[in-house]
Amino acid sequence: MSDKWEHLRQLAPLDVLSSLGVDVSTFKKRSGKLEWYGKCPFPGHNPKHNTTSFSVNADGRYQCFGCSEKGRGSIDLTRAIRKVGFQEAVSFLERLTIQPQPQKPAIGDSGTPREALEGQLKPLKASYHKFAVPCEWLETRVPDQTIRQRFGVFCYNNPARKSVYSGKVMIPILGFDDGELYGYLARNPAPKDGEPKYIFPKGLPKHLFVFGACQIKQMCEVPIKKLYLVESPFSVMKFVSLGLPAVSPFGWSVSDEQLAILQSLAKGIIYLPDRNKYEDGKAVAAALAGKLWVKYPPLPEGIDDPEKLSLEQVQAL
Ligand SMILES: [Zn+2]
Repeated sequence: MSDKWEHLRQLAPLDVLSSLGVDVSTFKKRSGKLEWYGKCPFPGHNPKHNTTSFSVNADGRYQCFGCSEKGRGSIDLTRAIRKVGFQEAVSFLERLTIQPQPQKPAIGDSGTPREALEGQLKPLKASYHKFAVPCEWLETRVPDQTIRQRFGVFCYNNPARKSVYSGKVMIPILGFDDGELYGYLARNPAPKDGEPKYIFPKGLPKHLFVFGACQIKQMCEVPIKKLYLVESPFSVMKFVSLGLPAVSPFGWSVSDEQLAILQSLAKGIIYLPDRNKYEDGKAVAAALAGKLWVKYPPLPEGIDDPEKLSLEQVQAL
């Protein structure tokens, strides 16, 4: 079954469980399988003694032999745990694909789910870039061609192949240590009703990547004095086009792993989430301040997104 919600159904089940508040660090991996088991997360079934009745497979299938709840895919899983309807589950998952929940640090011995997933991280071998097509939306949003090239962004369209990425603007996600391509954040230039603006690659742990970090390493002698931390890759490209070093953690929250990358890039951070995240961002600013010099200025009146700031406005912050 494939429909316009398929990308949500296929979200990594452990990430979804974690975002739903389930403590997956206690889950164990079944040896030889991409399957994990642990305490049943469904409301109404709160097993005191049996903490292994629930299992979930990387392909999305899940079941509990204690309460017989079972299904497949992240939408069903969300509905069952939250006791919500289809639309509410879809909205929840869409927010996840754009805005990561603050990530818990990886804990536990080898074989715990998160580490098991990270062990499989491999650079992506893909030829999407061979099917780059001109795109007015991208050229308007990122007018400077050298910036588009530096970050490797392009619009993909291969008429011979039906792909979820057709017509999308492809934003490369590079590993910080090796500079290799691990996937693409896809931006839908014209999302129809209900379609997400952004698609993050399923199974790729967002909390390990910082957009723009490799480019800072290439352009500057690190650690630099101050680095702008913004929410979206487009803000990063705008800032760099103004001559201001910037990176994005693919959202407003910052994981421990991302913080370590920031520390190797800069001594100081100017943290600029979108206006609607200013309150939530206070906790992030405090966490950053534990490791780095941090400035957390409010955006000027009338500006909701730092991408819209002029050079003069940024310098006045
Ligand atoms: Zn159960």
